[in-house]
Amino acid sequence: MKYVSTNGLAPPVSFREAVMKGQAPDGGLYMPESVPQLPPSFFRDLPDLSWAEIAFQVARSYTEEDLPDDILWQIITEALNFNIPLKQVRDNLFVLELFHGPTLAFKDVGARFMSRCIAYFSGEEGEKLTILVATSGDTGSAVAHGFLGVKGIDVVILYPRGKVSEIQEKQFTTLGDNITALAVEGTFDDCQRLVKTAFADEELHRSMNLSSANSINIGRLLPQSFYYYYAQAQLCDPLARPVISVPSGNFGNLTSGLMAAFTGLPMEYFVAATNINKVFPEYLRTGVFTPRPTIPTISNAMDVGNPSNLARIRYLFGDDVKEMRKKMKSFSFTDEDTRAAIHEVYTTTGYVLDPHSAIGYLGLVKALDNDEKPGVFLATAHPAKFKDVVAEETGKLPEIPERLAACMGKEIKSIPIGKGYEELKAFLLEKGE
Ligand SMILES: *Cc1c(COP(=O)(O)O)cnc(C)c1O
Repeated sequence: MKYVSTNGLAPPVSFREAVMKGQAPDGGLYMPESVPQLPPSFFRDLPDLSWAEIAFQVARSYTEEDLPDDILWQIITEALNFNIPLKQVRDNLFVLELFHGPTLAFKDVGARFMSRCIAYFSGEEGEKLTILVATSGDTGSAVAHGFLGVKGIDVVILYPRGKVSEIQEKQFTTLGDNITALAVEGTFDDCQRLVKTAFADEELHRSMNLSSANSINIGRLLPQSFYYYYAQAQLCDPLARPVISVPSGNFGNLTSGLMAAFTGLPMEYFVAATNINKVFPEYLRTGVFTPRPTIPTISNAMDVGNPSNLARIRYLFGDDVKEMRKKMKSFSFTDEDTRAAIHEVYTTTGYVLDPHSAIGYLGLVKALDNDEKPGVFLATAHPAKFKDVVAEETGKLPEIPERLAACMGKEIKSIPIGKGYEELKAFLLEKGE
């Protein structure tokens, strides 16, 4: 399997190279040249397969030439060592809980798989590697935890100062060791721009080995597709064609779902649910993509005004918006809607949603519009990560899991930095010496 750039100007590469480079040299994002077709027997047998077996079979079709079976199996069983249960919320509505990893958010899935692939590939080359990543909240902690203590790898995390929750900040700024956090005086889009500029900087590349670890790395996208199959397995009906709602920001999660659908996974269509950063629903409606400045919301991990993975979605559909509309609906919701959903779902069912998952729920309910098809929405963060909003709407503080409580008492060790590129470059060059 070869990987190609969405810009079409860089040569095709192996899975290994796509993961190690992060971004293609022409500024595009790597995608598999074609999405593999999985055999009907795989889909028929899904309900009988374990989470790890499903992940292994899917991963193999993408990585066979670069990861020997025993290594792939080890990476999967280490990285995906937590469950992803499907629960019934009511009637035909199900929630897929993606937040049982160490940082309580779905990005653990991608970050843990990718970090182990990178550790394996760079271990073979014996070179020191710097991972540069921009985060709007959850990527940072997932990547930091994924690489913590991994030899030969330094992680530098850029985040918008004052724009991530206290809990999120504590999760990636208190670790020390090979993890450095830079608090950027700006927005998440500024952080992303800085990272993109660094990757395009040839002088920097000559002085150090840089790789990305945010959602643009194909090594993160791929494992995120595994749980779409696992949701189907847990519905226990190989013929069920669920509607699947994905709370989206940078659109990596949705891209992974689309890839799963293109391999043959039975499903009806996706709902791309956003907060008021609604460039995608606008794009799907008008066919014109207009990036916008980020607007802060209570679902802040989805505050993205210029989603990178749109390039991949366009690639998958040959840039045909009409085709996209057959496979996706998209809606946006305000903070008020989000709060009302947390309140309503809790009072009517007892189920506690975090603000991101609430947007997934809202998107599903709106798309189904009383249709009785099975519907699955993805819960991307544990409610305890957004405990204040959740408590205001449910009247009760969510239970704080042990691993979250532990880091709350630690001291923040981030370095403040401006949003100009030269300052970041000087920092990286000094660090690389
Ligand atoms: C990152 C994140 C999202 C958005 O996922 P994308 O792949 O960027 O669309 C949604 N919810 C939570 C909790 C997140 O951390």
